[in-house]
Amino acid sequence: MDAAKYIWMNGEYKAWDDAKTHVLSHTIHYGNGVIEGTKAYKTADGYAIFRLNDHTKRLKESAKMTLIDIPYTVEEMNEAQLELIRKNEFKGDNVYLRPFAFLGYGVMGVYHKDAPVETVLAAWEWGAYLGEEGLKSGIKLKIASMTRAGNTSSMGKAKATANYLNSQMAKFEAIDCGYDEALLLDDQGYIAEASGACFFMVKDEEIITPPNDNSLASITQKTVIEIAKDMGYTVARRRVTREEVYVADEVFLTGTAAEITPVKDVDARIIGNGARGEITEKIQTAYFDIVFGRNEKYKHYLTYV
Ligand code: PMP
Repeated sequence: MDAAKYIWMNGEYKAWDDAKTHVLSHTIHYGNGVIEGTKAYKTADGYAIFRLNDHTKRLKESAKMTLIDIPYTVEEMNEAQLELIRKNEFKGDNVYLRPFAFLGYGVMGVYHKDAPVETVLAAWEWGAYLGEEGLKSGIKLKIASMTRAGNTSSMGKAKATANYLNSQMAKFEAIDCGYDEALLLDDQGYIAEASGACFFMVKDEEIITPPNDNSLASITQKTVIEIAKDMGYTVARRRVTREEVYVADEVFLTGTAAEITPVKDVDARIIGNGARGEITEKIQTAYFDIVFGRNEKYKHYLTYV
């Protein structure tokens, strides 16, 4: 990864190499932590963070769900993220922000009430999550052999560190089998989400994306639904089966890091014409116009640094 200059940790800007924790930190052993993934783009008027408040608010909500008491307000963390971008003096088009909270050193055993909460805001330059080529030509998806952990045993709507064991196993399997990304079903066999992104398909001009019954309450998915409706498309939020995916006209993934990534193949079934679909491309163009500040109508989603 590309190191930056500073990381904000518990209210202080520390040199990148000094933002450290003890090996006996609670989260390393028991996995209770919460993360965000937020992005800043270099617009014509300087860096702007996309949907900053929504991301910081989700961090606080994830923490509430997992009983982690972050001692900073959304406003304080928003301000600190803006300052972090300024202090780091980034140069490239894409800056990824990783706000997170974890349980630090001092308590062992599963019961975590007295474990200290560490709050961190990091940022670094990071390009296309699923590759530049993937954004243009599409990626290959494999439906994972593991299902997404059910709501009866995990908190899927939280962006909780613990949920990423499931994602990691699925992603590793997909790549090991020669694919680019994993698609996870829920425990009923319906599409839940990808290992780090949301699922969309197009069939007969209709755009379909599953509800968040068993997936992260995604900010990009919400944005894409809004953009697509604005462009005049019908968007259905309903459960989707594996067979429907195989015969979709277009498939794409959405996420802060994944942006709008076309899918050209799912489990060896070529999707549409095996390249970026027409509607996918239109939505992708619209999304990049919005995040780079080229669309006045959506400027309220940008917080300029
Ligand atoms: N699902 C998972 C498991 C993710 O990690 C992500 C990325 N944060 C998403 C969906 C997409 O969420 P968002 O659009 O809020 O980035």
